[in-house]
Amino acid sequence: MKYTVITGASSGIGYETALAFAARGKNLIIVARRLDKLEELKLKIQNIHSDVDVIIRTSDLSDTANSYKLYENLKEYQVETWINNAGLGESSSVSDQSLEKVESMLRLNIESLTILSTLFVRDYSHVEGTQLINVSSALGYATYIGGITYSASKYFVSAFTEGLAKELELKSAKMKAKVLAPAVTETEFEKTAQGVDEFDYKNFIPMFHTAKQMAGFMLELYDNDKVVGIVDESYNFNLRNQIYPILGV
Ligand code: NAP
Repeated sequence: MKYTVITGASSGIGYETALAFAARGKNLIIVARRLDKLEELKLKIQNIHSDVDVIIRTSDLSDTANSYKLYENLKEYQVETWINNAGLGESSSVSDQSLEKVESMLRLNIESLTILSTLFVRDYSHVEGTQLINVSSALGYATYIGGITYSASKYFVSAFTEGLAKELELKSAKMKAKVLAPAVTETEFEKTAQGVDEFDYKNFIPMFHTAKQMAGFMLELYDNDKVVGIVDESYNFNLRNQIYPILGV
């Protein structure tokens, strides 16, 4: 049996991506901190697709050691696709940002993603049909004043994954590495980024996608040979080759 691992599956884009992959008959390993939300998702999937196997793993990926533990703990499963989606925002100017939150964000958005990507590439790059999809942001390609540190963390995700895609290609590896770069998407993201209890997208944001639409774009990227799936300023989804220049080839 092969599995698709999705981190950050307890809400938003990860949750809808799990439903979209389950609809394709893909067995899932869903990861986040909130067990109740993961159990609710598992039940929902099993009610619709009884043949799909869903494995739950709770992990706080902002603790470096937990990324290694999670990967080790999944060694018994054959992984076909690994989606590093778990991520956190911080909506503040640099002078006002909470360094405690920023430290967690950098460990989750950058460190955990790099560790899990590296371990997956090490074990599976020779396996036909494997994919690594890292969730960046449109803000991984344009700096956002009011969230510079978050934006910079997503620049890392984009540059790392685009470069890795080229490295795999040059080694004639079987694995494909891809970047999903959403623009504003209606999820729990803004609540967490702004540290508020509620956030009404319809009142504050002129244009956004739903998490379900974004999961649809994730599948388009999964089905395509392009490296980057990015939402542009008009909120169109585009599949592209590497955007950052690459040297050393
Ligand atoms: P979301 O609804 O807040 O989902 C974030 C997910 O990450 C949740 O499942 C959360 O689960 C998990 N997570 C957060 N901290 C974690 C930790 N320390 N350890 C493990 N899991 C953790 O937001 P989303 O919009 O779906 O975000 C998904 C990805 O899309 C992120 O990488 C985000 O940067 C990116 N993105 C979002 C937008 C947007 O506008 N929404 C735009 C561009 C990019 P638990 O709380 O249960 O742990």
